[in-house]
Amino acid sequence: MSMNSAARAAILLAANNRATERLMTRYGMRLGAARFVAGETLDQCVAAISALNRQGFKCNATELGEAVSTEADAERAVSEYQGLLRRLAADGLRANVALKLTLMGQDIDDQLAERNLARLLDVARELGTFVRIDMEDSAHVEPTLATYRNLRARGYDNLGCVLQSYLYRSAADLEALLPLQPNLRLVKGAYLERPEVAFPRKADVDRNYLRMMERALSGDGYTALATHDPEIIEESITFAMRQRIPKDRFEFQMLYGVRPDLQRQLVARGYTVLVAVSYGTHWYPFFMRRLAERPANVLFLARNLTRR
Ligand SMILES: Cc1cc2nc3c(=O)[nH]c(=O)nc-3n(C[C@H](O)[C@H](O)[C@H](O)COP(=O)(O)OP(=O)(O)OC[C@H]3O[C@@H](n4cnc5c(N)ncnc54)[C@H](O)[C@@H]3O)c2cc1C
Repeated sequence: MSMNSAARAAILLAANNRATERLMTRYGMRLGAARFVAGETLDQCVAAISALNRQGFKCNATELGEAVSTEADAERAVSEYQGLLRRLAADGLRANVALKLTLMGQDIDDQLAERNLARLLDVARELGTFVRIDMEDSAHVEPTLATYRNLRARGYDNLGCVLQSYLYRSAADLEALLPLQPNLRLVKGAYLERPEVAFPRKADVDRNYLRMMERALSGDGYTALATHDPEIIEESITFAMRQRIPKDRFEFQMLYGVRPDLQRQLVARGYTVLVAVSYGTHWYPFFMRRLAERPANVLFLARNLTRR
């Protein structure tokens, strides 16, 4: 295991540690979470999105939270997301939402999560907007794709999903989804996965990403290329130009606070760029996944720790 992958595994393990979470939640915003999280309140999220919209970015909003274990918590999440959708529309923002199915109750019952998501999609449809289901760890892939298919079969076209290029299964999942003309977000994958299910080597993850990008762009759906990897971004642009794939058939997506220079350059070149904006008090696991993506971010955290 390289230094980097050892650091990544250690950080992702800490992402599930309750004691570290308690400590970090007390001090983390000051320590650096604010770099990746737009704030703890909806007003702060809306302010960040308005500013990004003015700079030419499309956005999606996520109220952070995952894996509820009671129906009451899932219900609270549904009404918060309904409120979020209505607020984005009321403020005339160019923004949709992205959320985790475990927040809708997937770990309690798949049907419950599907019903809850359908209620959100009804509101989104009424407002003329769109919802994307994020993809979580590999244990959730099968039920998440099943929910996506069920809801599309029920006529919800304002729904998108995510495929992760680190999973061996994703290329086949892509083939199976393409006939639905899906709105797909393609990512490398952010969770700690076993070599039985995911490519352990980054070079293989990147290669698979490129293959899946070509396949998705050649299909009839809409593709969101969610990566900060400049080489993959340039290869995607070259592929799209060579194949004469119009700019309105795909977009780039990046996370709030990550490579803002690259985000601006792409907008200046005439590409659609969505910035994914997260907010809320439950930011710890999200923040730890951002640290794991780039162990150099831990140095940034350490610098904030020592700065008084
Ligand atoms: C909009 C969006 C939505 C996502 N949704 C999901 C999802 O639903 N499920 C899921 O599993 N994953 C999701 N991810 C995370 C994704 O899987 C990767 O973990 C993450 O994007 C890092 O990989 P990369 O493609 O940027 O490439 P990498 O090869 O990891 O990074 C390329 C370069 O980007 C920069 N960079 C990348 N990450 C960071 C960071 N955190 N801080 C600073 N610089 C960085 C560095 O310069 C790095 O060299 C999402 C990512 C984005 C952008």
